[in-house]
Amino acid sequence: MQSIILRSLLTSAALAACAGAGSPPPGTAGTQHGKLSELSRVEGEIVLCEHQVPEQVCTRHHPELVAQFQRSGDWCAPHGVPESQCLKCHPDLTFEPLPQLGADADVAWLARAGEDVPSLDAHAVPGKVTVFDFYADWCAACRKVDGHMYERLAAGDALLAYRKLNVVEWESPLAQRYVKSVPSLPFVVIYGTDGKPFKSLHGADLAALDQAIAEAARQ
Ligand SMILES: [Zn+2]
Ligand SMILES: [Zn+2]
Repeated sequence: MQSIILRSLLTSAALAACAGAGSPPPGTAGTQHGKLSELSRVEGEIVLCEHQVPEQVCTRHHPELVAQFQRSGDWCAPHGVPESQCLKCHPDLTFEPLPQLGADADVAWLARAGEDVPSLDAHAVPGKVTVFDFYADWCAACRKVDGHMYERLAAGDALLAYRKLNVVEWESPLAQRYVKSVPSLPFVVIYGTDGKPFKSLHGADLAALDQAIAEAARQ
């Protein structure tokens, strides 16, 4: 992705617990907590207010935005702020921009809207370690992996091919095929340089991810 838009990066291990297979996605009726929408992401220069969120989307500075957040299900009722701005529920929530990627960074989306991808094999890049990342916008742990992969790519890691697959929800065709029995997102499938599946991981264990990539490079 070569967008010049700075995307704010939300990370939170806390939500990983909410992201288990089978449980309703955050934001569905009956749950107190909302979903982490894109509404707290801002473009361009990010200036944090005293609430540690981007000032221009802070609902405590801009009460007129409350309705918009609530309509999209991005609302933490117990704390009276958008879920995507609730540092009480997501203490490690940050709004760091994703690093800018060079033109040679090998990143591509295979699915943006939960559509089925019948086979990963066809998309593996022999000679590189291919990382297939199944994620959802409401999954904060996914952003942690996303940010980490972007850092590696931004640092010029030419051995990496990063393929992103947005499952959107547990019921999507993509999720039904690949993440049905996965306990939590993100779900990452790593192919070795031989173009064959090597390992899969779930959750945001960055050390395990780095180790698996290093091992896959020797396949
Ligand atoms: Zn504020
Ligand atoms: Zn909260």
